[in-house]
Amino acid sequence: MDTTPAERYAWLVRAALSGGRVPRDEIDRIVEAAGKSYKDLAYDVLAGPVELPTMPGDKCDHCGGAIRVTSSRRAGSVLVRYLGCRACGRKPDRHRQVVPAWTVPKKTRKNRPTKVKSESP
Ligand SMILES: [Zn+2]
Repeated sequence: MDTTPAERYAWLVRAALSGGRVPRDEIDRIVEAAGKSYKDLAYDVLAGPVELPTMPGDKCDHCGGAIRVTSSRRAGSVLVRYLGCRACGRKPDRHRQVVPAWTVPKKTRKNRPTKVKSESP
């Protein structure tokens, strides 16, 4: 195939948006070849072609509090997340996100936070 890494990456984002299933090792190869990270991928998928959605960690434009995921549910191969301000309860304009489930780390049964990189003291 004579597609560039950037083209492959764009294809991957489109595949994610259309709910297509891409094998994990294929995703690894494409993301790595394009010099991207999974965070970039999730962001690009969420962003779509035009507008950036509200993301968890954004500031509430009403009170300046932190926007967090208030609830989420799995629907087949996608995860639907609802965002809201934890301080005033206001929902941002684009408070509903549909995320391909494979871009979101699975929660462990014990619901532990994801492994923290060991920091040098
Ligand atoms: Zn607020």
